[in-house]
Amino acid sequence: MNLPSIRLYNTFTRRKEELRPLDDGVVRIYSCGPTVYRYVHIGNLRTFMLPDLLRRSLEYLGYKTEQVMNITDVGHLTDDTFDRGEDKMLVSARLENKSPEQIAAYYTAAFKDDVRKLGIRPADTYPHATDHIPQMIGLIEKLLEKGHAYEVEGTVYYDIASFPAYGRLSRNSTEKLIAGSRGEPDPRKRHPGDFTLWKAAGEHRLQVWPSPWGPGYPGWHIECSAMSMLLLGERFDIHTGGADNVFPHHEAEIAQSEAATGHRVVGTWLHGGLLMLSGARMAKSAGNFLRVTEIEEQGLDPLAFRYLALQAKYRAPLNFSVEGLEGADRALRHLRERVAEWSQNEGAEGLPVRTEWDMRFRDAIAEDLDFPRVMALVAELARSTVAPWTKAALLRDWDRVLGLDLGRTDFNQALPAGAEELIAEREKARAAKDFARSDRLREELKALGVSVVDRSIEK
Ligand SMILES: [Zn+2]
Repeated sequence: MNLPSIRLYNTFTRRKEELRPLDDGVVRIYSCGPTVYRYVHIGNLRTFMLPDLLRRSLEYLGYKTEQVMNITDVGHLTDDTFDRGEDKMLVSARLENKSPEQIAAYYTAAFKDDVRKLGIRPADTYPHATDHIPQMIGLIEKLLEKGHAYEVEGTVYYDIASFPAYGRLSRNSTEKLIAGSRGEPDPRKRHPGDFTLWKAAGEHRLQVWPSPWGPGYPGWHIECSAMSMLLLGERFDIHTGGADNVFPHHEAEIAQSEAATGHRVVGTWLHGGLLMLSGARMAKSAGNFLRVTEIEEQGLDPLAFRYLALQAKYRAPLNFSVEGLEGADRALRHLRERVAEWSQNEGAEGLPVRTEWDMRFRDAIAEDLDFPRVMALVAELARSTVAPWTKAALLRDWDRVLGLDLGRTDFNQALPAGAEELIAEREKARAAKDFARSDRLREELKALGVSVVDRSIEK
């Protein structure tokens, strides 16, 4: 098949490489998914946007895609720290007397709602870790057989010294790995950097499975190795995650999958940059995180966050501020209004103009998903002398990748707080022919980022 070439930055080689799918025209992608004992924050959502943009871009260029995203519903569910302080009571109350399965089901549903709000299309498959315990045990047995793991009192560790390439993805030396291991060294480990494949269950565990090493539960890393290879095969094209997954999660995944199979499993490792808030990484542990529902509560369109994220290179850290988000919200609403306006008069413009602009769009997405360049192209098109109809047609087409709902015509949706009341007031004023008041209200609406278009009464 003659499909356009696409270049992606591979964390493993630290270079941009041409993507060569193993199966002609089909790109298979595994994405690390959410841990479902808490809400995802917009930093997590930025990470989940990356495979969405990747898939949309590949499909725009004519490829087919298959995406698997795991749901981590094991391993953390007895943690007693939930979300931020102010939510703790509420969350705890809601979770009182709930089983781990109920907790996981609740947060899985919340995750799916949140990604939908950001225009992130669902993965083809969402395997749950708890449904794949036998596969994880099988993989651990294989690692034990091959001498890459050892058991101590019902817990199985990966022996990093048995895998010389350990540290290659994250460019970590063994010394750095020792320095980086947190807390008291576990005396049962041969090397402080050895990680857990299977953990013997303590007294307070709610989720416990039988295993050849006694009752316990799997480590997080083995989950992704087992499920990715089960569902996508022992070789697949792309693995995505956040920059914070490179070490230890993906490093461990490579050590497990490659030691078990004896060959490279993942073609391209694609990592999204972190979301920063006042210079600190947005994280549950930092207590500085924002949910997409909070963006909505502030009267902003959740897709404004998507618009904001598209302005930055996916690999770069993105500094988040409410002002930046408000600016993105205004810009997005304005762009949608322009598209609606440009769509009104069907005009005739030659196909060459459209093709020329579309080629530039294709080139930008094919060059390591260069969305800042795409957004500059959108602005350039908006300012250009291209016929309005053509502008609208191009933007609606590109929106298959951008996912910004640019074809929206129902502008009453997702109005900022207070806008609906002002619109109702203004309609009354107009009906009463109080045009001075109506104009004042129009200005007030404008300040909220809402522009009003009046239709002629005669029509
Ligand atoms: Zn993972």
